[in-house]
Amino acid sequence: MERPDLIIIGAGVTGLATAKMALEEGAERKILVLEKSAGLGGRLATRRSPPAIFDHGAQSYPVMSSGSWHAFWKRPGRIDEWTDAEGVRVGTSRAGMTDLAKHLAQDLEVLKNTKVIRLTRTPSGWKVFSETGDSWETPRVLLTAPVPQALELLKGSQIPYPAGLSQLVYDPALVILLGLDSSPAVTTPFIRPKQPPLLSVTDQEQKKVSGTAAWTVVFDPEFSTRHFETDEVKVKTLALQEIRKQYPDLNIRDAQLKKWRYSRPSRIWPESAQAIEGYPGLVLAGDAFGGNGIDGALQSARTAVSLLF
Ligand SMILES: Cc1cc2nc3c(=O)[nH]c(=O)nc-3n(C[C@H](O)[C@H](O)[C@H](O)COP(=O)(O)OP(=O)(O)OC[C@H]3O[C@@H](n4cnc5c(N)ncnc54)[C@H](O)[C@@H]3O)c2cc1C
Repeated sequence: MERPDLIIIGAGVTGLATAKMALEEGAERKILVLEKSAGLGGRLATRRSPPAIFDHGAQSYPVMSSGSWHAFWKRPGRIDEWTDAEGVRVGTSRAGMTDLAKHLAQDLEVLKNTKVIRLTRTPSGWKVFSETGDSWETPRVLLTAPVPQALELLKGSQIPYPAGLSQLVYDPALVILLGLDSSPAVTTPFIRPKQPPLLSVTDQEQKKVSGTAAWTVVFDPEFSTRHFETDEVKVKTLALQEIRKQYPDLNIRDAQLKKWRYSRPSRIWPESAQAIEGYPGLVLAGDAFGGNGIDGALQSARTAVSLLF
């Protein structure tokens, strides 16, 4: 694409929703999304591990606070609605949460496996450099990486930012994906764990994501922080002990570990997207700005569009 009107760094919900909304406002706009991973969705992540399938990032989105996006995602046979363990009405995607990102990305130009490593100013805007050796010029850049990663990029590009942004820290999350030999006797996908260190348990078969019995177990910030750097075999053993204490009857066939260094922001920035003063056309957005979760990311995307155009 020659000279996009906007380059978005990151193909998570924030980046993809911003691109979509910006195009709804102006179909002639040229928007390029650059994503460092091989897949779309960021923390909307689905792992196929035959015969099981697991969502191992976000498990659902809140129906009410996601606004019109619920209607956009709600295509026949693709979305189910539930009341989650906190009593909130949520939507889940049968093809896995990554499918929501894929639906958002339809008709968007997204370059995967493209990590942005530097930004420089030009007389008419920005030049964006990727690890792959490519570069693009554009008047506008939206940065949607989790804040610590976004700040690394700004630092490396010698762009100053509000000091308070470095106080935005995220909780890590250790997640165990359990392939089960038989289906537990549960009637909802969202099982409230009896006690810490388990934070949430989701039955992927009940959620209609997996054709076979499979649980995703997320550990709380305390356990996840303490064991984030622990040897993986050891942390899996510790995690399985904790799971068996609460669910002694589970027939566990196999267990995989997924580590999220940046899972959920533990503080939220007062603005739902942040323009960088003195650097026109550069905006930061994401769940640490709009509010925790997918609805927060969508809120941040809305504000980002209004700051960028
Ligand atoms: C275990 C877990 C469970 C969760 N459960 C829920 C839930 O049930 N409901 C809910 O609403 N929310 C949940 N969340 C939170 C939710 O997933 C996030 O709030 C939301 O997905 C954030 O979207 P985002 O686009 O802001 O960030 P991200 O999804 O992190 O997207 C940022 C993207 O930027 C890319 N990127 C980073 N640096 C670069 C670079 N230099 N160049 C190019 N690309 C780059 C990343 O690869 C990533 O794809 C959960 C999160 C986790 C980890």
